Amino acid sequence: MTSVDSQSSGPAGWDYSPAPERTRVPIKDEYGLFIDGAFRAPKSRRRFETINPATEEVLSRVSEAGPADVDAAVEAAKAAGPGWARLKPAERAKFLFRLARRIQERSRELAVLETMDGGKPIKESRDVALPLVAQHFFYHAGWADKLSYAFPGRTPKPVGVCGQIIPWNFPLLMAAWKLAPALACGNTCVLKPAETTSLTALHLAEILQEIELPPGVVNIVTGAGETGAAIVDHPDVKKVAFTGSTEVGKHLARSVAGTGKKLTLELGGKSPNIVFADAAIDQAVEGIVSSIWFNQGHVCCAGSRLFVQESIADEVIDKLAHRMRSLRVGDPLDKNTDVGAINSSTQLKTIERYIDAGGDEGAILHEVNDQPLPEKGFWCRPCFFTGVQPSHVIAREEIFGPVLSVMTFRTPEEALSRANNTPYGLAAGVWTNTGSKIFEIARKLDAGVVWCNTYNKFDASSPFGGFKESGFGREGGLQGLRAYVRL
Ligand code: NAP
Ligand code: MG
Repeated sequence: MTSVDSQSSGPAGWDYSPAPERTRVPIKDEYGLFIDGAFRAPKSRRRFETINPATEEVLSRVSEAGPADVDAAVEAAKAAGPGWARLKPAERAKFLFRLARRIQERSRELAVLETMDGGKPIKESRDVALPLVAQHFFYHAGWADKLSYAFPGRTPKPVGVCGQIIPWNFPLLMAAWKLAPALACGNTCVLKPAETTSLTALHLAEILQEIELPPGVVNIVTGAGETGAAIVDHPDVKKVAFTGSTEVGKHLARSVAGTGKKLTLELGGKSPNIVFADAAIDQAVEGIVSSIWFNQGHVCCAGSRLFVQESIADEVIDKLAHRMRSLRVGDPLDKNTDVGAINSSTQLKTIERYIDAGGDEGAILHEVNDQPLPEKGFWCRPCFFTGVQPSHVIAREEIFGPVLSVMTFRTPEEALSRANNTPYGLAAGVWTNTGSKIFEIARKLDAGVVWCNTYNKFDASSPFGGFKESGFGREGGLQGLRAYVRL
């Protein structure tokens, strides 16, 4: 047995020894911009620090691409375009297969780095994110020489230079969602990772060098919002793909309007998770846990509004509280950790503001997880609110943290109308034992993805995307190819 500070206590007096991840990842003191196949010092001469949100330790200094750097990246992508598009599709496929295999070979390193830079638990980056990243490249490698089957009777042509901007919650997976279909369809790319999680994209750039991807086909420029805006506004960028907040998405839609650029937006959500009285309750509780506390709630499709049928509400709430008590919060590099660090101090403050607002508006906060938290870093224990009214800010706005709003309903009609009462339409969950109810409800939910008796399941072959203020366009599957071709 070790002392209390070096271990976390589990449910009902169970103690766990630490299980730290021991893989060492070589992190450079500073990183350049990946332009035309090489790492270059930024012309802007500006760099910023990226930190580990679990320790607040500075991991590295990353380049901030200014307008001249973005110009160079777009120029490189434009110059590489014709050669890449002319390459035999089966040869393009080979590059994607090679990339997927090399990601698998380096997956442990990438998972550890993703966890260090972003705060997500290692078991999630290792067992969920990285396998999906590799899968996405494998899947799209398969499409590269079969595009004529995807669009029967049409002649799919590349769009040109794609400007791709991604958020911090799934850094590598979002990079894969953007790059894989673009490359399979013969386009070239300029990708901008989020400011707080640039490192895995830069290690991906090293892999692109290892597989000898022709220079300029993928360029990775780091920086803040202005860097993203410079990519979006660049006249030689023909397609913009953005994943991030609804606020920035709306702004991008305005700046792209009238330019002829293609645009897809994957934005925020406030997804309903509906549990009927005839559901397998323990299974549903596990689904609720993974839908909102998984990845600290840093999930765009998080099931942040739980609707439970009134007759089982007490039972579900008791079980949820019991499960919440046992979740292990803390060191993301510990293989037993369930809930890691909040990505940044800014995001932590946002979450705390919402928790305060919930209390101020009269909802009841349940926060029974009392494990000791590390002294440094950004932490938020998983929690839920009951007594939530549909008008409460915690029932309407995206919190992007481990905070669940629990509400009840009596009839399927009431569940549906309350679930759809949101400006968002990204995802939804339905839990019931009745097959016909699943089809009936799923059909009537305004959501791009509906999971039945499960939650947060992803596959490269199924399209993902939203309705209403959650954006438009799909990523993944055959439908996801559409954004990257001219027909
Ligand atoms: P964000 O502020 O919109 O940032 C997303 C990306 O856009 C980042 O790379 C960001 O750079 C960049 N950016 C910021 N301002 C920009 C501008 N004016 N022009 C161009 N690019 C700009 O979103 P976030 O807070 O990082 O991410 C969380 C949000 O993403 C949530 O709302 C979540 O729901 C959404 N999300 C949606 C999906 C989906 O598939 N629907 C998936 C994941 C996340 P910086 O990093 O430097 O700010
Ligand atoms: Mg970081």
